[in-house]
Amino acid sequence: MAPEKRMARLRNSGVTPTMQRLAILEFLESTKSHPTADEVYTTVHKSCPTIARATVYNTLEALTKAGTILQLTVDPGAARYDADTGPHVHFRCRVCERVYDIDTRQQRCLGHEVDGHQIESVRTYAFGVCASCRGERESEVTASERDSRGKKPKASSDAARPLKGKGVRNAP
Ligand SMILES: [Zn+2]
Ligand SMILES: [Zn+2]
Repeated sequence: MAPEKRMARLRNSGVTPTMQRLAILEFLESTKSHPTADEVYTTVHKSCPTIARATVYNTLEALTKAGTILQLTVDPGAARYDADTGPHVHFRCRVCERVYDIDTRQQRCLGHEVDGHQIESVRTYAFGVCASCRGERESEVTASERDSRGKKPKASSDAARPLKGKGVRNAP
């Protein structure tokens, strides 16, 4: 986003644009990591060493109040922030605890009235194990199978795996 647009975005949120506040919004616009307030502070502090933690917290609060950014409650440990206010689903990995965007459009009730309530946004959270953690786990399992089992027949290691589809009952 162009700096002028970012300035307007701050002004529209009732926040007077300063270099520090612009840096906060720029960082949020540049990341898909949904950082916590502390993470925003740590990153912005590198380019603006004089920034106060309170400035980060106050700016995030004002931007959230104005609807300029989203405050996410998907992480029970800390609020996270997202400059992408478009409709998207947040997925939290229970292994690495990272929060990802999932491009599943939740348009079904958007713009509609439900029981007289005007639905303006739908926020759905999904939980599980992310692709990179699944990759690590699978390679760990393969390594431990190799270490503990040696060269056992292929059938025994197959039996240890979770059954897929119809299971053994229907096997020929
Ligand atoms: Zn993960
Ligand atoms: Zn997001």
